[in-house]
Amino acid sequence: MWTSIKRLFATPMAEGATPSPQAGESEPQGGTPLPVMLDLASARRVLVIAPHPDDETMGCGGTIALLAKHIEVQAVLVTNGDGAGELPPGTSETRKAEMTAALQLLGVTRPTIFLDEPDGHFADSPAFRARLAKIIEDFQPNWVFVPWLLDSHPDHWRIARASCAVLAGSNVEKILYYEIWTPLPATHVVDITSVADQKRNAVLCHATALKYGNYVEATFGLNAYRSIYVPSRETRYAEVFAVRTPADCTRTA
Ligand SMILES: [Zn+2]
Repeated sequence: MWTSIKRLFATPMAEGATPSPQAGESEPQGGTPLPVMLDLASARRVLVIAPHPDDETMGCGGTIALLAKHIEVQAVLVTNGDGAGELPPGTSETRKAEMTAALQLLGVTRPTIFLDEPDGHFADSPAFRARLAKIIEDFQPNWVFVPWLLDSHPDHWRIARASCAVLAGSNVEKILYYEIWTPLPATHVVDITSVADQKRNAVLCHATALKYGNYVEATFGLNAYRSIYVPSRETRYAEVFAVRTPADCTRTA
């Protein structure tokens, strides 16, 4: 399939199509390069920033499971996960426990750091930036997973931008944006077929979220689609990321 995709790209254009630029003309910009396989071996310490309980599992749970076999993974839950006060009392504690159970299934042993920002109403602040900067300073991750900057959920993109502003001044090597509510323009792909059962069981830990949506089908539907980027017929599920550097953050912070 990979070969045939490349062959498709190399297929001569049909009659009437726009011709290639002649020598001396600039190549018109268009299209997105195919994602390449993410080299997990270059991760040494990984921080995962999750706006709400379930985002970490849906967005990058398979990759977390692969990384946690070998290196330390630290999760940060930014909001309290109480459903903006619209869910029954005690929901925040319940969802934190669900996230803890999910991360344990994914192989994460470090306790999650809870920042308890308001769910549904996250607002960037010097206090938030200082707390996140301290976490990064203490843990010294070389990779950080962040929700996609253009995710549809306001908490997600606001937390992504605020995190990006902090990361801009860090010595982190890779920022890996992950997709939750909005598919992103992928630069890298990870085959998660071998840990799909782990990820499925981790999604099932989020029982509160599952009362409000079919997140199992949604997550694995997207992961199945993303497998198209992996050049293997055995691959059934994949996660994708938009990988950037702190230098890129200085342009968006
Ligand atoms: Zn969320």
